[in-house]
This record gives sequence, C-alpha cells and structure tokens, in this order.
Amino acid sequence: MGFTSRILHSDRHGGIEHGSIHKPVHTSVTYAYEDARQLAAVFQGKEFGYSYGRQVNPTVTALQDKISLMEGGSATIAFATGMAAIGSTLFSLLRGGDHLISSSYLFGNTNSLFNSFAAHGIEVSLVDATSVDAVASEIRDNTKIVFVETIANPRTQISDLIQIGDLCKEHQLVYFVDNTMTTPYLFQPKEVGASLSINSLTKYIGGHANALGGSVTELNNYEWGGFNNIYDIYKGGDSSGWAITQIKKKGLRDFGAALGPEAAHHISVGSDTLALRMDRACSNAKRLTEFLSAHPRIKRLYYPGLENHPEYELAKALFRYPGAIFSLELNNLDCFDFLNKLRLIASSSNLGDTRSLGIPVAHTIYSEMGRERRLEMGIDDSLVRFSIGIEEADDLIEDFEQALNF
Ligand SMILES: *Cc1c(COP(=O)(O)O)cnc(C)c1O
Repeated sequence: MGFTSRILHSDRHGGIEHGSIHKPVHTSVTYAYEDARQLAAVFQGKEFGYSYGRQVNPTVTALQDKISLMEGGSATIAFATGMAAIGSTLFSLLRGGDHLISSSYLFGNTNSLFNSFAAHGIEVSLVDATSVDAVASEIRDNTKIVFVETIANPRTQISDLIQIGDLCKEHQLVYFVDNTMTTPYLFQPKEVGASLSINSLTKYIGGHANALGGSVTELNNYEWGGFNNIYDIYKGGDSSGWAITQIKKKGLRDFGAALGPEAAHHISVGSDTLALRMDRACSNAKRLTEFLSAHPRIKRLYYPGLENHPEYELAKALFRYPGAIFSLELNNLDCFDFLNKLRLIASSSNLGDTRSLGIPVAHTIYSEMGRERRLEMGIDDSLVRFSIGIEEADDLIEDFEQALNF
C-alpha cells in the first residue's frame, strides 16, 4: 500500500469506538478497573491497559501506532515536543562516562542540549557527518550512540546516512536519526540501518503549527541484548522491546514530558495529509530555487535539489524529494529589509507549516550559540532560511521577485 493508504485508516485499528472515524480525544488522566487485580496487572506490564496519563493515553497510543506505520517501526513513544523526545531518549540510554558522537550540523536547541549533556559527564564529539570518516575517527571504547539529522537546518548539509549506518553496525553503535526535515514520507531511516528515529511532530507531520509534539520510534535494526545500559527490570521478553520500554519508563514517565490528548488529535488529523502537503511544498521549493539560482541578487543558495549542492547525488538516491527548506545569502541587500519586503511569506521561526516562512537565523534561532560556533556550521550572519509551504508556486515566485527587484 502507498504511504497515505497505509496510515489513513489506522485510527480504527484495535477497535472502533462508537464507529468513530477519528480516534476520540480521551481527556481522562486516570483509568479505573472493576477488579483491583487487573489494575495491578496493568501496572506491572502483564496486561495492556491504561492507568495514568503521563505514561499512556488512548488518543496518544493511536498516534504512536500511526507513526510506527509511517516509519516502518515496531513501537513509538510520543512526547510533548521534539526536544523532549531527543532529551528523554538520550537521557534514558546514556550514563555518565559514555560517549556520544553527533553531527556538528544540528538544530540549535539540540546543540544546546548536547552542551548540557557534556556538563553532566557525557562525552560529546561534534563531527562533520557529511563524511563517514569524520565519524569513524571519533569512535572510542566508551562510544555508545551516533546522532545525525538527515538534512541539517539551515544550511542543508546531508549526513553520510548509508555509510554511517554501516559503520554503526560494524561497531555495534546505536544509530539515532532525527528525521524531522525529511519525514518518513521522504525518507525511511530504517533502510539505512538506523536503530531509532525521532521526529518533531510539531513540524511537517502535524503540519499546521497548531500543536507541539515529538516521537521516537524503534526500527529493529539494533540488537539491544548487547547494549549494557539496559536496566535488568526492562529486560523482559524479546530484546527488541527493551530500549523502547526503558525510554518509556526512564524517559517519558520519570521526566514527564507527556504529549497531551488534544495535541495528539491535532497532530493525527494533520498527518493524514502529510504526503499531499510534502508533494506540494517540495515542488514549490524546487520551482523557487530554480528561479532564485538565476537571480543576480542571490549570492549563495543552499538546497539539496540543486546540482551544485555537495550532497545532490546522495539526496537524489535517498530521498523522495530534496525537501522544502532552503537558505540563501543576498548581494547588496540587507536580510531584514528583504524579509520585510516579502508580502506573502511571513517572518517566523517555525518550519514545516502549510504557510511559507522565512527567518534571519544568525540573529534569532542561532544567536545564543555565538558567531564562532555558527561559522563551524556554515552559518553566515546574513543567512536567511525559508520553509516553503503549500501556496501556489507562481504566487511565491512573484513575491520573491518583487522583494528582490525593488
Ligand atoms: C524543531 C526541531 C526539533 C525540535 O522539535 P520541537 O517540537 O520544536 O521541540 C528537533 N529537531 C529538528 C531537526 C527540528 O527541526
């Protein structure tokens, strides 16, 4: 089945409540049982059921199952935000003295989070993950996890996804892929050997900037039996479920960043049209970058769908489309003045919305890290990032044209 057919009816898996087409929004925080022994069995994981909303909720469970279907995974845990998914997962799998290798090209808050990990006794190496050799040269005896993004925001560097997968397999490292920028519609991390994938559901999957959420999905490529940070208590049954159980208990339950049922509902409804929105947004981004690459006011243009992009071939081989994000630097035009000239495109920090958005990244989302770290990530002070939405392409081109040619 195609991507949309596969997910569209998933709300009705596991029983249709009142014939409801959408999974209902269950707002109850707690669940009661006629037989107190059954409550105990649910608590001890001997029986599936709901007990307390911080760990599990029927509306959230339906969304988790839908994301597992999208990613081709066996289980998903949802969180209140994408950052909660990354932070809680890594916290629950790493211990003091462990070593994490991460791509240097990171979402700003993930970069900030990794600085905190370093302050708490987890060694972190940031490497140029467009080259597998850079990752390989950092492997140590205590290395546990390799973390990469697919297409890095804002400069669109693409990690050496296939080769890093092979490397992780060879060294039995957990391969953790942030699939937010590509989504499971453009790219399946499972196919390159990823152990776990994370998605910020706030972005393309929810797609309408009306709910925050995040998720982590077990992709069944890693043998958790050989991972020595799993607590004995979570080693029940087949080892493929150990890590996700520990993430649920140590990450979600103990940190408590649970996704609310209303947000889960918004995200689930939004996700029904993920494929349609991505088709349109990616095609818009392609048309726009073709127009912009010929424009004299554009100094540099970064988009993996352009032949001069260093990872053009890799993007073509791996991704259904090269995404809907690009960034640019301008000739003789101030980035703020340019953004102010745009009429249709809003100045805003989000990405993956139905609406096209632009942002001067060095002055906003990447300001806290300082200029030196920005330059390591290839972020010039004048860089503007665009997240292209689903407006008609001609209108977007006209808007850029008038803003560039005043
Ligand atoms: C937005 C984003 C996150 C964080 O997601 P939130 O839902 O905003 O917490 C993580 N990774 C990437 C690549 C993102 O774009």
